[in-house]
Amino acid sequence: MKVAVLGAGAIGAYVGAALHRAGADVHLIARGPHLAAMRRYGVRVRSPRGDFTAHTRATDDPAEVGPVDYVFLGLKANSYAACGPLIEPLPHDTTAVVAAQNGIPWWYFHRHGGPYDGRRLQSVDPSGAVSAVLAPERAVGCVVYAATELEQPGVVRHLEGTRFSIGEPGRDVSARCLALSEAMRSGGLLLGGAAGGFVRPDELDIPLTFEGTRQAGPTLGSGVVMAFDDTVPLLRVAEFFRDESCGQCVPCRVGTVRQEEALRRIVEHTGAAAADDITLLREVGRAMRDASICGLGQTAWNAVESAIDRLGAYE
Ligand code: SF4
Repeated sequence: MKVAVLGAGAIGAYVGAALHRAGADVHLIARGPHLAAMRRYGVRVRSPRGDFTAHTRATDDPAEVGPVDYVFLGLKANSYAACGPLIEPLPHDTTAVVAAQNGIPWWYFHRHGGPYDGRRLQSVDPSGAVSAVLAPERAVGCVVYAATELEQPGVVRHLEGTRFSIGEPGRDVSARCLALSEAMRSGGLLLGGAAGGFVRPDELDIPLTFEGTRQAGPTLGSGVVMAFDDTVPLLRVAEFFRDESCGQCVPCRVGTVRQEEALRRIVEHTGAAAADDITLLREVGRAMRDASICGLGQTAWNAVESAIDRLGAYE
């Protein structure tokens, strides 16, 4: 999947970095010191979910990028009408344009149905210039729930929220929306068995050595590599530790059960709805790590912690 982010400011660069982390071929289009910093150091994301750096491609010239599958618009909405020369090199026949524009978009009545079907909104596209540059047929709706700011050139401070709601103007479920959604929700590999840690799709080329994996964050442990899809069935890991606990010490005997219970409660939840149970998981995890007698209890929280912090599970 090839993605161009046109207007890679705080939100655009954050999206680009997240998609790059999930394995997409991302090209950020920006200007000035911010572009220079991203070229030199990558996009450095500072986040309560865990810091990371994404070494995406970055340019000020869309012609260098060429046709892409998705254009993510991080521009201010009032500059859409004038972005024609910038966007012109990017689309191919089926390219989708995803505008990070909270509020009523220029394509609002495209495939809307009813008496206003196809009507151009004078309030957001008064002369038709926006529709001329950004054909409504290419539009994929996007509501941004994430809050970010540019801390300094090339450095994005992620404050809260990771949800980007996307959808077709006609409300149908399309292949292009599903593909983008899947790219934004990455799976991972669990290194070192059930007591290990996850590596993300963008880290799959790390050397499978003790030094290489330690440098990336997780450890090689027993050498077992388990592949998970984007649903990350952490309950299976929690059930394993609950069954394996011999029950001799309280932190592990009780903690592995509490961990499984919390995961069962939040299995369908994300964001604020999962926050209390994630806090509980962290407290139980710390107690198991610090106070269990043997290595089983001390590592029973590793994979769950890693999925939350490194894969963004339950965001
Ligand atoms: S930490 Fe070890 S000794 Fe304690 S209950 Fe778990 S398996 Fe048993």
